[in-house]
Amino acid sequence: MLAQVLSKSDVGDILDGVLHGNQPDLNDCIRLVQSHDVHALGLVANILRRRLYSDTASYVNNIILNYTNVCVTYCKFCAFYRPPGDADAYTVPLEEIVRRVSMSREMFGITQVMLQGGHNPNLKIDYYEDAFRAIKAKCPGVGIHGLSASEVDMIARVERSSTNEVLARLKEAGLDTLPGAGAEILDDLVKKEISPLKIKSAEWLRIMEEAHKLGIKSSATMMYGTVESEEQRARHIMKIAELQKKTGGFMAFIPWSFEPNKTEMQAEGMIKYPAGGLHLLKMIAISRIVYYGLIPHLQSSWLTNGIGMAQLALNYGADDFGGTLIGEEVVSATGARSTELTSDRIVSAIKQVDFLPVERDNFYNIVHGPAV
Ligand code: SF4
Repeated sequence: MLAQVLSKSDVGDILDGVLHGNQPDLNDCIRLVQSHDVHALGLVANILRRRLYSDTASYVNNIILNYTNVCVTYCKFCAFYRPPGDADAYTVPLEEIVRRVSMSREMFGITQVMLQGGHNPNLKIDYYEDAFRAIKAKCPGVGIHGLSASEVDMIARVERSSTNEVLARLKEAGLDTLPGAGAEILDDLVKKEISPLKIKSAEWLRIMEEAHKLGIKSSATMMYGTVESEEQRARHIMKIAELQKKTGGFMAFIPWSFEPNKTEMQAEGMIKYPAGGLHLLKMIAISRIVYYGLIPHLQSSWLTNGIGMAQLALNYGADDFGGTLIGEEVVSATGARSTELTSDRIVSAIKQVDFLPVERDNFYNIVHGPAV
């Protein structure tokens, strides 16, 4: 059946090559993104995924702590931020950060806190260092997965320091791993349209390289479905592949689709609808195919596409269901869907599609499982 599917596919030659150990190049990646043969892509991605993880699917018991919504970067795709001085602006005080982490540890047994927020010009590096040290003192077993490359850049600008120095100090204070947010599409023409005040592509890549060289592993992301072309999507995927060949510091890749609701891009009529499920499956499958042997883990994006799509994604190359995301506020700001998901619901969602759930920590080490 596989040979038959590949012989009829417009990208059968690339898919056959990957199954025999070839790594796709940029032209191959562009052809994969342009192909409409989602089922052939999924069939091969699923073979590759099962070679690596058989029928297990991981998740992390996690709280998301959006420590501030104050931001001076005004991305057009964001419904979360508030300008300084806004009536709804907030910054979570240190004691409250520690209380939320410690309570979530007791109630839900979390092993990771994901800290992300706006670019708040009033927060100096001490805020982050104090928070990380206090979390580690109270909950030493909880991994700190925090701050996007663009937040690191903001702290460096506030401190008039280098991003390398900021990363080194944050690591010293307890930062374990870096999320991949802030990449969107690594193409400055796209960034000029959707987030003109945010760091440019080369800066995102440079900060990630600095983190990896300091021994801080990270994720990488892609936010597709705004104004980017198919070629720009493919170039984004390949830029991350190139950096990974250099540093080996990316643990996971997370493609997720832009949610237009309540954003400036929707208000301006730039984008009316989200990219939808078929695109999710295609991007998941392409990521597994291109990153096979390079980036080990691939998250299904239940947060913007829902649990049903995330279940399907496990059959299209994804091996990780992501986090429980208790407390998430960024995507909730778009009103997309419920963003509360406990580990019980993740475990049953994984079992419903005949995979074996395993709980991992922020380094993707298995801490429990398989759960049967
Ligand atoms: S995406 Fe981040 S940087 Fe951009 S406006 Fe929202 S909070 Fe600010």
